Amino acid sequence: MSAAPTTSTGTASDVTAQAARRRTFAVISHPDAGKSTITEALALHARAITSAGAVHGKGDRRGVVSDWMAMEQQRGISITSAALQFTYRDVVVNLLDTPGHADFSEDTYRVLTAVDCAVMLLDAAKGLEPQTLKLFEVCRHRRVPVITFINKWDRPGLEPLELLDEIEQRIGLRCTPLTWPVGVAGQFHGVADRRTGQMVAFTRTPGGATAVVEEQLPADEAAQRYGADWTRAIEELDLLAATGADHDQAAFVAATTTPVLFGAAVTNAGVRQLLDVLVDNAPPPAARPDTGGSPRALDAPFSGFVFKTQANMNPAHRDQVAFVRVCSGRFERGMVVTHAGTGRPFATKYAQQVFGRDRDTIDEAYPGDVVGLVNATALGIGDSLYAGPAVTFPPLPSFAPEHFVAIRATDSSKFKRFRRGIEQLDGEGVVQVLRSDRRGEQTPVLAAVGPMQFEVATHRLAAEFGVPTAVDHLPYTLARRTDAGSAAALNAAPGVEVMTRVRDGELLALFPDKWRLSTVRNRDPDLVLEPLLADAQ
Ligand code: GDP
Repeated sequence: MSAAPTTSTGTASDVTAQAARRRTFAVISHPDAGKSTITEALALHARAITSAGAVHGKGDRRGVVSDWMAMEQQRGISITSAALQFTYRDVVVNLLDTPGHADFSEDTYRVLTAVDCAVMLLDAAKGLEPQTLKLFEVCRHRRVPVITFINKWDRPGLEPLELLDEIEQRIGLRCTPLTWPVGVAGQFHGVADRRTGQMVAFTRTPGGATAVVEEQLPADEAAQRYGADWTRAIEELDLLAATGADHDQAAFVAATTTPVLFGAAVTNAGVRQLLDVLVDNAPPPAARPDTGGSPRALDAPFSGFVFKTQANMNPAHRDQVAFVRVCSGRFERGMVVTHAGTGRPFATKYAQQVFGRDRDTIDEAYPGDVVGLVNATALGIGDSLYAGPAVTFPPLPSFAPEHFVAIRATDSSKFKRFRRGIEQLDGEGVVQVLRSDRRGEQTPVLAAVGPMQFEVATHRLAAEFGVPTAVDHLPYTLARRTDAGSAAALNAAPGVEVMTRVRDGELLALFPDKWRLSTVRNRDPDLVLEPLLADAQ
């Protein structure tokens, strides 16, 4: 069967115009910085959802979305969900969700391959935290432009100049604030908007409504009302201007500077300014390069790649959803596309927009949008799909695992099912599966960036495949790529074990720590020991 043409109605200029009005981004933050709160605030501001608390099922908040898995419910966290879409000022905003727990997973990293921009959310009292740093490294590696939002300004926090200094010193990103707080953290009157020279005052409404009311004040009125606080803000802004910390669109898009905004998501303060910056400054989708480096034009026929798959989202019908980021053309539900890996046709009758548990059938999508394809068991992470001329996008990065367990089925009569389950989890990218000659086929090794992936894996093996398992934690924290020539010597070194990664046949040497690695390397400098991927090193 040949691939269907994109559509008779979607002309090239439509597609270009639609792509230009898309903004696709993710929020990167440390747990508790306020990601769920700001997601709700952004969506509410844009009127995407109707009641606060509808985004994440957290704590006692009424959740309608991300609790598809029992384990997720118990922990009150979002392990996996997808994309929230809303329209603001005639721009279609796609907010891709990243898991909100303290753990890392490759899933989070992969979401960052599907965005055009990231919002780095910091807690004003804490500044940069470990998870923010790690996620930021991925943005840097992929040259994803970053907007910084300093949250919780309604509470005591660090000095604003101190926060900027920390960002510049620790991550080398030049800060170019667009707004500046009037009033120290904890006594937040509003922000000076550097683009207008005016103040945006945030006042609480009497009667206890949580959202603040915004008021535009010319500078003289701001000075009159807020006296010393306004003067101080202006002095600090003069200082910034003197050091050239002004927004530069090209430098921002090149990911060397970051516009900074201040606010308090919980009261909506600064949320509109963030939306405006997303619309005015965040880059729209650009032509994505294929494996050979040639970009697929935005107005070429449909193409996209799978950045995430998820099995059994709905226990009522076992299925697998593949989340596809549209890269070019107009996607129309029902079109038959080609799966680049196999050349086979793939029917898209059940295309959906999925955010947590909410699913809406979608009829069309454009570059930057995320489409959930149901019944997609044939599709794996990183796979390309296209209509018209063939295209294959580069494979998604596989990150260096830091945690390892040996896993076995406690009931050996269930080995076949166990093996099928392990294959499924490997294919979905929940964990990386390794084989070691020392351990045999019955006991594969699971490798992950964060240990919570093992809980997800054992839970799913039990719940979906009916296989109870036992795991033994292995004392390794570091993996290096090696080759067959070095394997014997490495296996003979105390504390080192060589394993084969099932997914791609790579040989990995596992070490307990970096000291052991350097001892082994010093003793025999000719051994092949290469880092797996710069992102996670
Ligand atoms: P997440 O883990 O990053 O998704 O964080 P949440 O959105 O769940 O927020 C963590 C806690 O911080 C919650 O108790 C929020 O109510 C609170 N929070 C979020 N934003 C603000 C804010 O702007 N000001 C204050 N004071 N609290 C906030």
